[in-house]
Amino acid sequence: MNVPMKNAKVRLYVDHPLGEGQTIPLERDQANYLFAVMRLSVGDVVSLFNGRDGEWRAEVVVANKRNGVLICVQQTQPLQMPPDLWLCFAPIKKARTDFIVEKAAEMGACRIVPVQTEYTNSDRMRQDRLQAHAVEAAEQCGGTYVPEVTELTKLDKLLEDWPVGRQLMFCDEAEVGSAKQLAASEGGPWAILIGPEGGFSPPERERLRALPFAHVVSLGPRILRADTAAVAAMTLWQQALGDWQ
Ligand code: SAM
Repeated sequence: MNVPMKNAKVRLYVDHPLGEGQTIPLERDQANYLFAVMRLSVGDVVSLFNGRDGEWRAEVVVANKRNGVLICVQQTQPLQMPPDLWLCFAPIKKARTDFIVEKAAEMGACRIVPVQTEYTNSDRMRQDRLQAHAVEAAEQCGGTYVPEVTELTKLDKLLEDWPVGRQLMFCDEAEVGSAKQLAASEGGPWAILIGPEGGFSPPERERLRALPFAHVVSLGPRILRADTAAVAAMTLWQQALGDWQ
């Protein structure tokens, strides 16, 4: 008689290699989440991913409040990389910045780059907190990859170190209402750039517009908040050049 396979309801990111028969020791907060919050016990199953080895079904073999062990049973999804798209954005208020990181991870950015521009209000940012948001977003959206959230980078430095061959979708509020749309022709590596609440300064705009790899884009006839603009730009890019096609 076939014993029906239990379905995993819980998805967890672990920083540990995954493979058949691999045991995964749990950290204290993971054990607390699985056994105290989700009330799992020995024999229950969990979906695991680590951003490298795809998704695995794992079984609980040790369940304590402070620690636990899982064992990988079977791969349930191969690693699926998102397209080579960076989301570069100027951080805004905390909750809205969290929202941008969460949406970028869900929508398939492979790297999230907080950028300090002239009119950016915050000059400090908790990279580890934003990275944790990206992990949580990947856990809940079924992704097998977690985008890296980089440290806050000055716009000048970002442009100085710009990689050869990467195109830039420069979302410029000065183009509000214009017909400048993303020309859906060139694939390959891309980045989206979204400015802060105050927009781009005139010298920044001049510099960005002169870059040979920049494509100036309008996001319609209204000025969008930066968090809305990030989601709108990613939607347009994914539809035209990404993995939504
Ligand atoms: N303070 C600026 C102004 O009033 O012109 C608006 C900045 S907007 C809140 C934040 C960012 O979202 C902009 O820097 C730009 O990257 C993007 N954005 C918002 N609406 C846009 C539009 N209609 N077209 C292109 N980019 C837009």
